[in-house]
Amino acid sequence: GGHRNSAGLDLSDVGTLETTVRAVNSPLPHAGGAGGGLALSSSATVGDERPVASVAFNGERVPTPSPSRTREGDQVAAAITRAHAAFPAWSRTPVDDRAACLERLADLLEKHRDELMAICVQEAFKTIADAIGEVREAADFCRYYAQQARTNLQAIELPGPTGERNMLHIEGRGVWATIAPWNFPLAIFLGQTVAALVTGNSVVAKPAPQTPRIAALAVALAHEAGVPADVLILVTGGTEVGAALTADVRIQGVAFTGSTATARKIARALLDDDTRPIVPLIAETGGINAMIVDSTALPEQVVADVIASSFRSAGQRCSALRLLLVQEDIADGVIEMLSGAMETLRIGRSGDPATDVGPVIDQAAYDKLMAYRESVRGQWLKTLDVPTDGLFVPPTLVRIGAIEDLNQEWFGPILHVATWEAGRLSETIARVNAKGYGLTMGLHSRIARAAEVIEAEAAVGNLYINRSMIGAVVGSQPFGGEGLSGTGPKAGGPRYLYRFCAERAVSVDT
Ligand code: GLU
Repeated sequence: GGHRNSAGLDLSDVGTLETTVRAVNSPLPHAGGAGGGLALSSSATVGDERPVASVAFNGERVPTPSPSRTREGDQVAAAITRAHAAFPAWSRTPVDDRAACLERLADLLEKHRDELMAICVQEAFKTIADAIGEVREAADFCRYYAQQARTNLQAIELPGPTGERNMLHIEGRGVWATIAPWNFPLAIFLGQTVAALVTGNSVVAKPAPQTPRIAALAVALAHEAGVPADVLILVTGGTEVGAALTADVRIQGVAFTGSTATARKIARALLDDDTRPIVPLIAETGGINAMIVDSTALPEQVVADVIASSFRSAGQRCSALRLLLVQEDIADGVIEMLSGAMETLRIGRSGDPATDVGPVIDQAAYDKLMAYRESVRGQWLKTLDVPTDGLFVPPTLVRIGAIEDLNQEWFGPILHVATWEAGRLSETIARVNAKGYGLTMGLHSRIARAAEVIEAEAAVGNLYINRSMIGAVVGSQPFGGEGLSGTGPKAGGPRYLYRFCAERAVSVDT
C-alpha cells in the first residue's frame, strides 16, 4: 500500500507524525537501533495519534489540527528538562566520540537516501534533483563538522611568561534550540543541529511546521548513530512551540534559519527577561539578492545562471536571485534570450523526474505570491503557463523602474529586472547595499577591475562572480549573510563551530 509517486519512491512506511515524534524521542527503543526499522511504524506508541497532514504532489495540503497551547508549552518544557539533565555527560564525552556519531549519521543518511528523498519530495515538494542535493548536503554537513570538531576543539596551552600554566578550553554551552526552515528541511535542520551537538551541547530541535517528518527521520537516524535520546530531542509545531523554546531561561543558544521578522522576535525574546543569561543567537534569514551584468558578460552563461538562480527550487532559497541588473546597452538582448530560456522550464509535480519547477510550499505562500504577481501585471516581461491543479506559481519576469522599487523578499519564482548605466558600477552596488540585506550578490563581467570593485564594495556574505548564486557547497562556500540577512556565522565554514561554544581559560600558578 502507501503512496507511490511518479518517481517510484515508496512512502508507505513513514507512520503518523505523532507516533513518529514520540518514537524518536523515547529514551529506550533506539539504543542500538535496528537499521531501517527506526520504530517509525505505529506500533511504537499508543494513543492520541493525529494523522499527518496529507499531501499531494501538486502542493495541495490538508492541514493537521494543531494541539493546544498548554500542551505545546509542556512538550517544550519537558524536552528542555531532559536535554538539560543530559548535557553534562554529553559535554564530557570526548570530542572524537561525538564526531564519530556525526560520521555514522552521514553513513546512515546515505543508507536511507531513497526514503529521505521520498519524504523531501512528498513533504517539501522538492524536485528529484533538489532532493538528491538535500541528502548530499546533510551528509556533507555531518562529515565536515565532525572533521572540524576533531581538529579545532582541542584545548590549547598558552604562554605563561610569569611561570603560570595557562590553558584555553573550548566546550559546549548547554541546551541549544535549533529552529529550522521548510526550504532545506533536512540539510539546514541537521546542519544547525549537528553543529550544536558535536561541540558538546544538547539540543532541542524544532523543524518547520510544514516539514516535521523528514526531521523526525533525521533525529531517529541521529539516535541510531549514537547520539543519546536525551541529548537530541525533537519538538514539532508552529510559532507557539518556537516561542515556548526561546522563552525558556535554560536555553543557552538559538540557531535559527527563517525570516528576518522571526529572527527579530527571537532576539527580543532572548533579551526579554532581565534575569536570564545573555546567550548567542545565530540567525540566517532572507535577502533581496541582486546580480549585476555588464556588457562584457557572456549572454548565454548569464541566462543559464539566472535561470538556475531564480527559478530552481521554485525560487524558494534564501540565496535566490531576486533582482537582475543589466547594463542598459545589452538589456533588450539579455531579456529576450532569458524569456526564451524560461520557456524551456518544465513546471510540474515534484516527484516527476522531468520537473524543473515544482509547486510552492503551501497555500499561504501561493496566495501571497500570486497576489503580488497580479499587482505588478502591467510590468510583466514574461510569464509562463502552469498546470492549474496545484500550487504552481508561474515563473515571471517583472520589469521595475529603479533598484529602489523592490523592497521586499518575494520567496518564489518571481524575478525582477532593472537596468543600470555604463560607468556606474559602484553606485549600483551602493544602491543594492542600501536595502540593508546582505546575503548573496552576483556579477557577470569579463573586466577584472569590475570584479575587484564588487569584491571591495558589496556588503554581502556570499559573492558569486561569473556563476550562479545558489548551491553553496559545504566546506568550499561557507554560507550566511549580514545586516537584515543574518548574524553572520557561515554554515559549512571552518569557524562555524566556535559560535556554538563556550571558552574557558584556566591559569595555574606552578
Ligand atoms: N545554502 C543554500 C544555497 O546556497 C541556501 C540556503 C537557504 O535558502 O537558506 O542555495
